[in-house]
Amino acid sequence: VLPTVAIVGRPNVGKSSLLNALARRTISIVEDMPGVTRDRISTPLRVTDTAGVDRYIELVDTGGYGFIDSDDLTEHIKQQIEQAMALAQLVLFVVDCDAGLTAGDTEIATLLRSKGIKTVLLANKADSVKSDVSLGDFARLGLGTPLGISATNKRNIDELDALIARN
Ligand code: GDP
Ligand code: MG
Repeated sequence: VLPTVAIVGRPNVGKSSLLNALARRTISIVEDMPGVTRDRISTPLRVTDTAGVDRYIELVDTGGYGFIDSDDLTEHIKQQIEQAMALAQLVLFVVDCDAGLTAGDTEIATLLRSKGIKTVLLANKADSVKSDVSLGDFARLGLGTPLGISATNKRNIDELDALIARN
């Protein structure tokens, strides 16, 4: 059984895009509509640390089940965290630096911190260095300053790969 790394976050922050970027191929469906990931998607993944040492993990996209009404995040969020807790040695908590910090982000952060789950905070849609000015805001989640990444532009994806391997 491989160690499990779960991707958690509000709908539409880019969780499925991140899974595909790390896997370097299309595994999970990306949609403009929130809540499109109907089943839990996972893939085995080789990650390589900065010393060149390979490790194998199971990467899980915890999209939730069924269509998620964007006004009713709470059950969805709780379900994701429960799944992540049950499965994961490490959680990749994705926020959206275009959207900025939201109440849903705070709720997820509170749950993760209360359960003491090992968490890496990632600000996706940081498509260029210009986006990194907004990262400081997310420090309010109490999980450190996020790593700015772009699933679309593959920005900092290799760095994240090494970071996963190290954890
Ligand atoms: P999920 O609901 O969290 O799985 O999010 P998706 O991966 O389905 O992506 C939601 C939307 O965000 C889609 O329209 C993606 O094209 C877009 N998106 C995902 N990653 C990025 C990114 O790095 N930069 C930008 N600009 N858009 C992104
Ligand atoms: Mg998805």
